[in-house]
Amino acid sequence: MGRPQDGDNYLSSLEWGAHVYGHNATSLGISTVGNWSGKAMNPAIERVLIQHLVKLCFKMELTPKDVKGHREMKGASTECPGLLVDMDRLRSLVDEQYKAVKRLLGRKKKCQKSKKPTGS
Ligand SMILES: [Zn+2]
Repeated sequence: MGRPQDGDNYLSSLEWGAHVYGHNATSLGISTVGNWSGKAMNPAIERVLIQHLVKLCFKMELTPKDVKGHREMKGASTECPGLLVDMDRLRSLVDEQYKAVKRLLGRKKKCQKSKKPTGS
């Protein structure tokens, strides 16, 4: 995230991340350790990355369509996150989990509504 980890994995209003030149004030960067141009991303890392992206979509009120690779940002001249990372596939996987969580949250709300207290 462009700063030393302080344990919470999120930027507070007092912290300023630096990841994509020209977009730092309006974007949030996530880093994985590895070079994904020469080697496919480890499935365990990809799984955790997707979980973080889904959580951030909910927390920051974004959609999976808002997930961009560094190389997709205007003005970027980098392979980041690596040429072997298919960003459309990654967004699709984030979207699947995002929709699954949304369905679960919808069911939970319905359950809570139907459990309204009755009687006196
Ligand atoms: Zn990058």
